[in-house]
Amino acid sequence: MESIGQCDSCADEGVGVVALHRIYLTPEAGEQAPTMALQPSLERWCFSCRTSYPHQLLD
Ligand SMILES: [Zn+2]
Repeated sequence: MESIGQCDSCADEGVGVVALHRIYLTPEAGEQAPTMALQPSLERWCFSCRTSYPHQLLD
């Protein structure tokens, strides 16, 4: 659900901020796929950050 507010990632004020969980990618040495670590805390991100960084929207 989009709302008006401040983005927790870039700190911009704007429309279209969505609650989600950030995902940290931890690259492994060699040919393994990166590890995805879902953060348990809720954040609110703007559209721009959602197109740039990995995340998981709420169900
Ligand atoms: Zn942002």
